[in-house]
Amino acid sequence: MKVKSTICLKLFLSHVLAVLMVSGSIGTYFYTSAANTLMHGLKERLQSSAALISQMIDAEALGTVASPADVSQRGYIDTLEKLRSLKRMNPDISFLYVMRQAGEEVYFVVDSDETAKQALPGQKYDHTFPNLVEGFTSVTVDEEITLDEWGAFLSGYAPIKNGGSRYLVGIDMRADQVYEKYKGLRVSGLISLLASIALAFLFARFLSAKFIAPIRLAIDRCTAIAAGKFGEQITLHTHDELDQLLKAFNDMSAALAHTECKRREAFVALQRAKDELEIRVRQRTADLKEVNNRLSNEIAQRIIAQTALQEAATIDPLTRLYNRRAMMEHFDHEIGRNKRNHLPFSILFIDLDHFKRINDAKGHEAGDCVLIEISIRMKNMLRSQDSIARWGGEEFVVLLPEATLAEGKIVAEKIRRAVADTPFYAHGEELFLTASFGVAEFRPGLDISQTIKAADAAVYAAKMNGRNRVEVEGAIARGNHQD
Ligand code: GH3
Ligand code: MG
Ligand code: MG
Repeated sequence: MKVKSTICLKLFLSHVLAVLMVSGSIGTYFYTSAANTLMHGLKERLQSSAALISQMIDAEALGTVASPADVSQRGYIDTLEKLRSLKRMNPDISFLYVMRQAGEEVYFVVDSDETAKQALPGQKYDHTFPNLVEGFTSVTVDEEITLDEWGAFLSGYAPIKNGGSRYLVGIDMRADQVYEKYKGLRVSGLISLLASIALAFLFARFLSAKFIAPIRLAIDRCTAIAAGKFGEQITLHTHDELDQLLKAFNDMSAALAHTECKRREAFVALQRAKDELEIRVRQRTADLKEVNNRLSNEIAQRIIAQTALQEAATIDPLTRLYNRRAMMEHFDHEIGRNKRNHLPFSILFIDLDHFKRINDAKGHEAGDCVLIEISIRMKNMLRSQDSIARWGGEEFVVLLPEATLAEGKIVAEKIRRAVADTPFYAHGEELFLTASFGVAEFRPGLDISQTIKAADAAVYAAKMNGRNRVEVEGAIARGNHQD
């Protein structure tokens, strides 16, 4: 941050102001009183000299001296001589002269000047000061010292005793010494003022240095604290109010160090707790993952077991066709459809002809193989919406949705031919097999068991009528083919 006005400058200005106010008023007083005393002494001397000399001059002897031509008159010569001898006796006197007033004008009568500039009788004096005019009637002196090419003068005037207020004697007294003393007074005043200002500056420097040192230390500590260095103390003592500031600063620094220490401890503890928590979370996550895997495996195994159970409950293990129970569910579904949409459906009842003989001739295992193969062959003859089940032993039931009795009969005939026309193989040997078919259509309002019974009865009729044939419900068993 930039400092606009330094403490040093402020102290200096206040000191200077104090110096100006004190030494200015005191100096002015002393200067004025000394000057007045000097002036007063000079004026008194001048007044008494003027008064004395005015008594020594005779105005009547000068009554006819009015022009330069009158310089040869006795009165002029005597008076000039008197003035010059008086001047020589008193070295302080520069000029002595006698003047006459005529109306408003003032003229020289006698001038003691011994140079070429001497004023001759009748020479008009142009610089008529009020004090000079006053000098024709009473003793008077100038107010101020006059400076000219000859030096510093103060003039005094006194009326000549028998001059009838028309003549005066004037004295120009040297005031060089007074003037020099005036000058000396002014110079010494100026020097003392300058010395006071210099002292004010030195005091300001000294005092500001005293103030600034602790402030700088405090600033340095602030910077150190901002940079994270707590705890250092300021050892300077100023033995004044600044000591309280430094003490407060040290207390604050110590408190900050303490707080920082606590904060670091808390941070370390927090970090440790966080690490521990992370480890615990990792462990728990691993545990949960393991439990989850175990549960997933168990669920998968259960699904497999359930699927197997479901399959076992609905699929015939040898032929992989539906079992009787599954077929009963298909019937229920189709009955529901029939009720809702009045769609017809038919069932086929299939019983293999003389199957016992195959078992007997080729063995039970070969019989199983034939059962598997015939199941595949029959299933392949059906539409996707048809269902086929192993009803028991070597008996099968087919459900034909949306098929009337006549359509069912056609399907049965197709399957019959597929079974009968193509040979089966058992132990590498060709064998032919046939099956008997009974067809029945579901009648709304009747129980499905009645439809099954009707189909079963039709099979029986087919057996009776020579096997390897299709009979529909209500068919009459004409023959007796038990073989
Ligand atoms: P038909 O129906 O023409 O009157 O004569 P059939 O010989 O088929 O009739 P029957 O009902 O007397 O015999 C059925 C035979 O089917 C009896 C049994 O040996 C055989 N059978 C039933 N279930 C199985 C099985 O799962 N495997 C084998 N290999 N044979 C079976
Ligand atoms: Mg049978
Ligand atoms: Mg049979």
